[in-house]
Amino acid sequence: MCQSCNDKPETLTREGASRRDFLRSGAVLAAAPVATSMIAAQAAAQTTNGTLAESKVQAWAAHDTEGNFAPYTISRRAAGAKDVVIEIMYSSICHSDVHTYKGDWGMPHFPLVPGHEMVGRVVGTGPEVTKFREGDIAGVGTMVDSCGTCVNCLADREQNCLNGTTFTYDSADKISGGVTYGGYSRKIVVKEEFALRIPPGVDLAGFAPLLCAGITTFSPINHWNLQHGQRYGVIGMGGLGHLAVKLAAAKGAEVVVFTTSEDKIADAKRFGAAEAYLWSDDAAIGRQMGTFDLMLSTVPVAYPMQPFLNLLKLDKTLVNVGALFEVQGAQGMLMAFGRQSLAGSLTGGIAETQRVIDFAAHHGIAATYEMITPDQIGTACEKVVNKEARYRYVIDMTQV
Ligand SMILES: [Zn+2]
Ligand SMILES: [Zn+2]
Repeated sequence: MCQSCNDKPETLTREGASRRDFLRSGAVLAAAPVATSMIAAQAAAQTTNGTLAESKVQAWAAHDTEGNFAPYTISRRAAGAKDVVIEIMYSSICHSDVHTYKGDWGMPHFPLVPGHEMVGRVVGTGPEVTKFREGDIAGVGTMVDSCGTCVNCLADREQNCLNGTTFTYDSADKISGGVTYGGYSRKIVVKEEFALRIPPGVDLAGFAPLLCAGITTFSPINHWNLQHGQRYGVIGMGGLGHLAVKLAAAKGAEVVVFTTSEDKIADAKRFGAAEAYLWSDDAAIGRQMGTFDLMLSTVPVAYPMQPFLNLLKLDKTLVNVGALFEVQGAQGMLMAFGRQSLAGSLTGGIAETQRVIDFAAHHGIAATYEMITPDQIGTACEKVVNKEARYRYVIDMTQV
């Protein structure tokens, strides 16, 4: 197995990064007179042409829980010293976007600009940005800020920030006030540490879904340490599930898909699954009892989980990343006899998100998608609910 496939946990800690930053800052100090004047000149040039200034940006917003989307103008803050300005090219539709505007997780703030899977071009960099240059391709995922100092942030788990992660949309914006606006827009301003590097030569539209669906399914594979040759069950094969199949198959796992859509059986095998079954196929599911090392549920609604918990080996885990409110049908006695765990997992940290991007690039993995224009967002969201997406809708944001 090559080094980049051998996904060891990220060894570069925040402390390590700080030391590196310290060394870098020492070098900058040594060249201070020249560097300072260059940075000032660069910042002045960018401010002159407006890329770092506060700006009005065209977006598409949901205006009600029915999912009526319409053009909407938002403000993006002036870029700070460590901010990057990204002109968004592609933004994909996650089922979370639909849950949010429908109010499934609490009433959102309307007008709501969703989108937490976006890829675009860096068009401006604050004077202290080191990770990006103008012209680079960058992605933004599910979060745009966290405290950076709590124990979870220091362990690269910004999604679990004890002082409150700032999620990419409909989250309290601690920098600008109000709420955050997501990727269904032409431009975003974000701290460079929350922007991801997208390697050259990849399918940019197909990489947008990695920023949420990719990391959400990659993180459990790492945390529960799925190994080459182990049996891995994927329950539900939509936007998340199809990437779970591709990523786990690239890891060498024996992937088995459980779906309610007959036409997805062939797709599952095309994506790398060894086997795929309909939920209604009781005989086939019965044969899988006690055979799985890890299972992942990507189904976005509650359903009885015990029949799938029964498929786990002793001591193994079913990870739920789909139904984020109630989970149903787990039976204590049966779980006790099998000493099985039902766990949850939420997206992944920034370092781990970079790892899934690099892993996908190395293995030639991208989402399978259909490109749409912004005026088709509402229709596409309904198709997501009706299980008609194959497998992600990517919005061409250059058409705003
Ligand atoms: Zn998402
Ligand atoms: Zn924190």
